[in-house]
Parts: sequence; structure tokens; C-alpha cells
Amino acid sequence: MKDQFGRGIDYLRISVTDKCNLRCTYCMPVEGLPWIPRAELLSYEEVAEVVRQMAALGLRRVRLTGGEPLVRRDLPDLVRQLREVEGIEEISLSTNAILLDGVADELRDAGVDRLNISLDTLRRERFAELARRPERSFDATMAGIAAAERVGFHPLKINVVVMRGVNDDELADFAARTRDRPWHVRFIELMPTEGNLFLSDRYVSADELIGRLRALTALVPVQGPRGNGPATYFEIPGAQGTVGVITPLSHNYCSKCNRMRLTADGRLRTCLFGTHEVDLKRPLRETGDVGAAVREALAGKPERHFLRIGTAGGSGGLSALSQVGG
Ligand code: SAM
Ligand code: SF4
Repeated sequence: MKDQFGRGIDYLRISVTDKCNLRCTYCMPVEGLPWIPRAELLSYEEVAEVVRQMAALGLRRVRLTGGEPLVRRDLPDLVRQLREVEGIEEISLSTNAILLDGVADELRDAGVDRLNISLDTLRRERFAELARRPERSFDATMAGIAAAERVGFHPLKINVVVMRGVNDDELADFAARTRDRPWHVRFIELMPTEGNLFLSDRYVSADELIGRLRALTALVPVQGPRGNGPATYFEIPGAQGTVGVITPLSHNYCSKCNRMRLTADGRLRTCLFGTHEVDLKRPLRETGDVGAAVREALAGKPERHFLRIGTAGGSGGLSALSQVGG
């Protein structure tokens, strides 16, 4: 699949639910959002059918995300169905790991190749403030990470959204974790949505945070783990893992964009921060064929996003990344 700017599109992020068991301050309001009605959600069979038809057009890799994908029942069933799709080479999962401990081995056996785990703080009390859930959620997340390591998910990417005055005093602590374990810690710039503009002064650019880390420890540029991501990686000399930065604002990577997003109710979104989307559910339910809709989406994929710091301008009216899978 090629878009009008010649970019090859072979990666689909699939949101399986817009619901979540956390309420991260930068992502979702504490009362939650108006959830997608159940009847509007694509069934696992429908998701697999979309992937099958897109794989015939060139899709090669998928990531399951949300909301929190593990709050949707029987997720390994979907993984097993996706594993059967000819042409799909890699299945990965983004999760907050709260529910991972009980299903890590089943997910691996079902066919998940790689995991990205979100963890914004290494401190129990702070986790409760940030995720607006009891401190035991932190214990559950750490148990989930331990389970991922135990059942052999490697490389394990740990995603940290960095916020000034909230968790930017933990950069060195996160980096230190990469010394003796093969964690790939990726610091993500806070992205503005309509729902989190009150956090605008929390933004820390990747250049600033790498500068701050360099003042504390040696860092050398490295290739980083394999994957689809746009991160830039560094390593503390001799460390088992790496430290990466993801810079959607300070250095956008739109020219290398290889992806589209499928929302839980079946809309194919061509840019995380854009208004362009094409409904796949209707043609899927009416005719069984989404080929034309996928081609229409590809043709309309915008060249880049126009997100700016401190304003939701360019976010395409998005109130939370949980609505489109981040
Ligand atoms: N619940 C799962 C999780 O947290 O990993 C998957 C969905 S979450 C929306 C996907 C990623 O988006 C997470 O790494 C999260 O930290 C990130 N994210 C959400 N809102 C964000 C924002 N406003 N700026 C930067 N990253 C954000
Ligand atoms: Fe849930 Fe992930 Fe959003 Fe946090 S970032 S509220 S874990 S969807």
C-alpha cells in the first residue's frame, strides 16, 4: 500500500476498546469518556476480516492497543485469529500491564511477538496520583512487567510520558534501570489533545531531556531494538537496555510514517492528529468488502500533522489518545 506521497503503509494500530482501567491525567478525564456502545464495536471476527483484506493489499504488522486492550474479554482469541492471517509477520501489544500477570503466557502462546508497556513513574504513590487509581495498581503493573519478562517477551519497551514537575525528576532512575535489564525505555513528549490542554506547561522536549540525562551519565547513540517505532535511541555504555526518545512535536517523523489506525468502532484513521478517517464497519457489514474504503483512506492520508505545543490546534478535535489507540 502506497499513499499519495509515496510512503509505504504496512502497519496498522488496532484499538480494541476505548475503555480503560486507569485514568492517566494526560489521557483521560477521571469520569471517563462517552464510551462507544457495544453494538458499534467491531467483533474480533470483523477485526480479523479487516486485517485479512488489508494484508492482501500489503499490510504486514499490527499492534493491539486501546484504551486498555486487556480490559476487552478474551483478547488472546483475537491474537489467535490474527496469527492465522496470511501475510501478517508481526503482532504486538501496547498495555498498561495491570491485567498482564494472568495472561502473559497465553498471549505469548497465542502469538503476540512484542510488548510495549506504559509506566510513567517508578514510585508507588506517584503512580496512584498520575493514574488516579489506588496504589495497588502500581503493584499490579509491576507484576505484569515481571510476568512479561518471565515468559520471555523481548525486547520489552517501556513507554514513559515525560511531564515537567510531575515525573521529570525520574529520568535518571528510568535510565538506570536499563543498566542491568534489557529494558528499552522510551521517553515520549506529551502531546496536546483537547482534553489535556490544562497540562500544556508540563511539556518537556526530547532535546531538553536528553541534555539533562547527558549531564548525569554518558549516552551513546545506538540502533535500538527492532520495531516499527519512530524512536531515536541511546545507550549508557555497557548497559543491557537502551534509552529512547519519541518526538512527535519537536521533530515530527511524518515523512517516514508507515501506519494507519483502526478505531474500536471500525473507522480507519490515517493520521493520529487529523480529521481524515473512513468508515470500514458499514461496508464490512453491508457487503463484506472493505477494499475500496481502504484505498479511499490511503488516497486521503495527509502529508503531516500540524500539532503545536500548548494548543489543540492540529489535533483533529481529538479529546484523548485513548479514543484512537495512541
Ligand atoms: N492503555 C495502553 C497504554 O497505556 O499503553 C494503550 C493505549 S495508550 C492511549 C497508548 C500510549 O499513548 C501510551 O504509551 C500512553 O502513555 C500514550 N499517551 C496517551 N495520551 C498521551 C498524550 N497526551 N501524550 C503522549 N502520550 C500519550
Ligand atoms: Fe488508559 Fe493508556 Fe490512557 Fe493511561 S494512557 S488512561 S493506561 S489508555
